[in-house]
Amino acid sequence: MKGEKRRHFYSTSSHEFGIWWASKGMGLGPHKRVQRGIVSGAFNGLPPSEHPEVAPHVLTSLKNEFDFNLPKIFERRASRDGTIKYLFELEDGRKVESVAIPFHKKYTLCLSSQVGCAMACTFCFTGTQGLTRNLETHEIVGQYLSVWRDLNREGKHKMTPNIVFMGQGEPLHNFEGLKSSIEYLMETPGLSLGPKQITVSTVGHLPGLLRWDELPPVNLAISLHSPFEEERSKLIPMNKAYSIEKIFAVLRKLPWGKRKLINFEYLLLGDENDSRDHAKELAKIIGEFPSLVNLIPFNPYPGSPYLRPSEERVEQFKQWLVEEKVRTMVRVTKGDEILAACGQLANQFK
Ligand code: SF4
Repeated sequence: MKGEKRRHFYSTSSHEFGIWWASKGMGLGPHKRVQRGIVSGAFNGLPPSEHPEVAPHVLTSLKNEFDFNLPKIFERRASRDGTIKYLFELEDGRKVESVAIPFHKKYTLCLSSQVGCAMACTFCFTGTQGLTRNLETHEIVGQYLSVWRDLNREGKHKMTPNIVFMGQGEPLHNFEGLKSSIEYLMETPGLSLGPKQITVSTVGHLPGLLRWDELPPVNLAISLHSPFEEERSKLIPMNKAYSIEKIFAVLRKLPWGKRKLINFEYLLLGDENDSRDHAKELAKIIGEFPSLVNLIPFNPYPGSPYLRPSEERVEQFKQWLVEEKVRTMVRVTKGDEILAACGQLANQFK
C-alpha cells in the first residue's frame, strides 16, 4: 500500500468494510463488532490499536490501508450558556466550524457541509466568504465524532447527540456528501442514529430538494425568512432562481402527509421582516403544510447590515402567528458572544 492513498475508515460503509474484512481471510461475523468498537472508540477516545478484538496481523492491515484521522480541533470556544464552538482544520488546511448546543440532557451538533457557501445570503456571515469546496463524507462524519469525543472527554455527555445540518454551507448543494454522511451515521454499527435525530436545514436549493426522496426520512427545515418573493430574493439571492413558489411546488409532491412536520425557519430581522403583514402572509402561504415555524431572533455580527428585533417584537410576532393558528416556537439563540448562532459561522476565530 506504500504510496497509495489510504481510504477513510469513517466513510467506509459496513458493507464495504465487510468485503475488506473477508478479503483478509477473516470470517464475516465479527467485522461489525470490530467496526462498532473502532467507531465508538473514536468518540470515546480509544485508538483503534487498542481494540481487543483485532488480531495483530489485521491491525497492521487496518493501519496500512485505512486512514483513521479525524478533523483536528484547531480552536474551541465555550459560551456561558454551555454552547461550544469548534474550529476544525482539514487535511488541506481549510477550516470549518461546528457547534455543540446543549438542550435539556442532550446536545445537538450543528455540522458544516461545505467550506464557505455559494448562496450569499445577505444576513449570513458565512455567505460573505463564497464557496471554496464541498466537504467529503469523512469530514462531515469526522466533525460529529470529534465533537462527541471532546464532550465525552470533558465528561459532559454520554447520550448520542442529535444533528442539524445548519453550519457552514448549503447542505443540499453538496447532495452526495450529505447523503452518504447521513447513511453512514444511520447505518454504521456504533452510531445507528435514527432519522428523527437528524435535521437538514436548507434555503431551498431546488436541484437537491428535487432529490429529497433519495435521503432517509430525516427532518426537513426550510429557511424561509420572508413570505414575499421580492424581499426573500434580497435576503437569499438564490430565491431569484429557486423561488418560494418553486420550492413549495416541490414540497407539495413530497409525501409529508401523516408522517411529519416541515420546519420553517424564520430569521427575525429588526424592522425588516417582522411586521404584522409578514406574519399574516407567512401564515397564509404555509397553511397548506403540516408545519412548525421556528422564529430565530437575528444576532448582529460586526458589520452586519441588519438589526436584532426587540424581545417585545419577537413575542408580538409569535402572537400574530398564533392568532393565525400557526404552530410557532421562538428559538432561544445560544452562543451569541462566541458568534455561534445561526448564520454566524465564518471562521471568526481568526
Ligand atoms: S444562511 Fe446558509 S445558505 Fe445562506 S449563505 Fe449562510 S450558510 Fe449559506
